[in-house]
Amino acid sequence: MSSLVAGPSLVEAYLEHIRNTCLVGTDGELADYIPELARVDPTKFGLSLALHDGYVYSIADADVGFTIQSVSKPLTYALALTHKGFELVDERIGVEPSGEAFNEISVDSKRRPRNPMINAGAILSASMLLEVEPDVDRAFAELLEFYSACAGRQLVLDSDVYNSEMRSGARNRAIAYMLQSFGVLQASPEAAIDLYFRQCSLIVTTDDLAVIGGTLANGGVNPRTGRRAVGQAVVQRVLSVMTTCGMYDGAGDWVTTVGLPAKSGVGGGIMAVLPGQLGIGVYSPLLDEHGNSVRGVAACKRLSADLGLHMFNVARESRVTVRSFHTAAELDIDTDRPDTDRTDTERRYLRGKRDRIRIFELQGDLTFSGTESVLRRLRATAQEFEVAILDMTRVDHVDEVSRSMFVGASRNLKGAQRSAVIVDPDGVVVRRSAHRSEPGPGLEYVVTTMHEALIRAEDFLLKLAVEEG
Ligand code: GLU
Repeated sequence: MSSLVAGPSLVEAYLEHIRNTCLVGTDGELADYIPELARVDPTKFGLSLALHDGYVYSIADADVGFTIQSVSKPLTYALALTHKGFELVDERIGVEPSGEAFNEISVDSKRRPRNPMINAGAILSASMLLEVEPDVDRAFAELLEFYSACAGRQLVLDSDVYNSEMRSGARNRAIAYMLQSFGVLQASPEAAIDLYFRQCSLIVTTDDLAVIGGTLANGGVNPRTGRRAVGQAVVQRVLSVMTTCGMYDGAGDWVTTVGLPAKSGVGGGIMAVLPGQLGIGVYSPLLDEHGNSVRGVAACKRLSADLGLHMFNVARESRVTVRSFHTAAELDIDTDRPDTDRTDTERRYLRGKRDRIRIFELQGDLTFSGTESVLRRLRATAQEFEVAILDMTRVDHVDEVSRSMFVGASRNLKGAQRSAVIVDPDGVVVRRSAHRSEPGPGLEYVVTTMHEALIRAEDFLLKLAVEEG
């Protein structure tokens, strides 16, 4: 059977394609500052996308656990902002990109860590939680509950990684004591380091990172559980800092090429967020000189370029892409006219088949996420129709990726003995010249009125009946 109903969806097939392109080569090194990270399988690759309605696409090693490491930094910063308030946090942690390595021992002229995404700022964020709850176990329990709420499932600690971090953390300890000597770190430096290493040692999968990213994309409401995990103002701040400081010294290149707030970790994970739309989690443990996953970065670059995910790719997206959804039986359009050349038997047959024609009335600008949700609905209801009519009358713009997704879907429908008819009076899907319409490959049925669409749909049902005898 075609991939319309069973097998991978168009999006999954595309994600697999990304994996195949990104797995080429062996560039990068495993993190080796602790033995546990140097022991992981360098060939693993996981990729997940969490959509705003909680649907998660995942491929390959999306169920392989790895430690979250620095991808934890925005979350603990969010928690510090929530507990202490913006003013108190801003007095002690800056928001300026440092352009330095993640573990640089550096502060600004006010002796504040430059931002919460480098270790100094992250250790200070963790220490602020201890100002509210000085007991490390209890502070960690609360942190864990928060991270789990963002991921939509209970996360656990990798105690081997944690113990190893604790044994080898001289540099991070130095940072904590330095911040104490400046008077900005007020909790116990040892407790702050302990809490920081526990947060770094939490085990996640790319599904988790995608859902956490999806929670941030959704203004703080977890798309899976529907529960609010983070306040909206905190989300806005966290995404801003991720945008300018999330990818360490590679931040500028990242913003221009990928254009998504993101955070990487030396465990090999990257979380990226398209505000209002989706969260991405990717995992591949080979790292570049900045400590970012080589293949993770490559995958994000491809995803952003191919799917038009750059946050400044401005479209008037409407959350509700499918305006209405019904069968031809519910429509008040009479196709039973003499000019259709139908015999009485055919007419009778078609009257009984009107509920096998589904009409999807779409609206707004169609970019990847909107089109994805339309095609997912098409796939989920595919058993209920032979012909899908996609009514684009109220659609203003269709981007390149969505156009090719419609072509792919139409091809898949054909393979599954079904058909798609597109009503496109203004030529938004198929650009029309003054003299002729150019449906192009894959899109056979593009018409300008619903009446024409219904006649095409009926022609198809009759053809099917003849083929099936
Ligand atoms: N545990 C690591 C450290 O602080 C995390 C670093 C990272 O992921 O960038 O050294």
